[in-house]
Amino acid sequence: MRNIVQKEDKVLREKARELKPEEIKSDEIKNFLKQMSETLVDYDEGVALAAPQVAKPLSIFIVSGRFFSPDLKIKDEEEVKQPKTKDIVFINPKITRVSKKRESIPEGCLSVDGVQGEIKRSSKVTIEAFDENGTKFTRGASGLLAQIIQHEVDHLNGILFIDSAKNLRKITYDR
Ligand SMILES: [Zn+2]
Repeated sequence: MRNIVQKEDKVLREKARELKPEEIKSDEIKNFLKQMSETLVDYDEGVALAAPQVAKPLSIFIVSGRFFSPDLKIKDEEEVKQPKTKDIVFINPKITRVSKKRESIPEGCLSVDGVQGEIKRSSKVTIEAFDENGTKFTRGASGLLAQIIQHEVDHLNGILFIDSAKNLRKITYDR
């Protein structure tokens, strides 16, 4: 498990480096992806995590497998020990299409602890990326997943949601 860095950390403002194809399946990246998943599973309120958030400015983000199985309890002890759902890995992601339609939606970030605000996001996006096996894939997303993808790709460009969000306010999570 790794620590999630907070908004003051300069690593969050770096542009993430793309991985070379031969790097993707290396032991180093395999271990790193495992550490990212172990970190994310520990945060009830987290649905995704970008590599710069754990202080590695690489072009990688993951979306929690829990997000795709809403019937699973968000923090099921068994699930933490032995996940039934794999996190979805996006390496060198590129958003290739965005809908003109944008919506203002509430958002937060594990690197901006306890703050929420409204941000304008495209309702639909198409993303291209490589998975953990180095296979390229394209995926369309709408709603919350489209929002997550835009938030995570912003992280890889050194952008935080608080840079453009409105009505920033403190929130507390039940832990
Ligand atoms: Zn974030």
